[in-house]
Amino acid sequence: MTEPSLEIAQIGNPVLRQTAEWIDRPQDRAYQILIADLLQTMTQSAGVGIAATQVGVAKQLVIVASRPTLRYPNAPQISPIPMFNPQLVEHSDETEKGWEGCLSVPGIRGLVPRYKSVTVEYQDRDGQTQQLILHDFVARVFQHEYDHLQGIVFVDRVENTTELMSELEYQRQILGIVPNP
Ligand code: ZN
Repeated sequence: MTEPSLEIAQIGNPVLRQTAEWIDRPQDRAYQILIADLLQTMTQSAGVGIAATQVGVAKQLVIVASRPTLRYPNAPQISPIPMFNPQLVEHSDETEKGWEGCLSVPGIRGLVPRYKSVTVEYQDRDGQTQQLILHDFVARVFQHEYDHLQGIVFVDRVENTTELMSELEYQRQILGIVPNP
């Protein structure tokens, strides 16, 4: 029997525009439960990342994950990484545009420029400081989730509204898995 997922805030909900608060004690039981709930919600929605703000908790916790899905067939497989109080400490000069979507913006895809690699610092679920260098798709997922903690949604970063697409057109034009009418 599967636990019910948490409700995901959708664009227009003010919580998505809040700046998330620092978390003093990641090791507290309440946050261990929140991690489990976020993982469940993300997995059931076929997401590759999630931020606490998306379930109405304006605190600095994100999960960065990546696995091949229908929407991201070329995504690498990694174990989900819960990150408390994440900071972007360094980034490549080089940026790259790639298609993104968001559980909080259903049915819409957009081309978003992101740094190709980033160095991030965060606390893990035991409160230990960690540093990681992320590249390409995983770096993109991090930047997307990190934005959520500042109240930024990916559509804010699309350079031109002509670079927005419906999910159907994305599957048709970019993935080539839906036949033309
Ligand atoms: Zn999102």
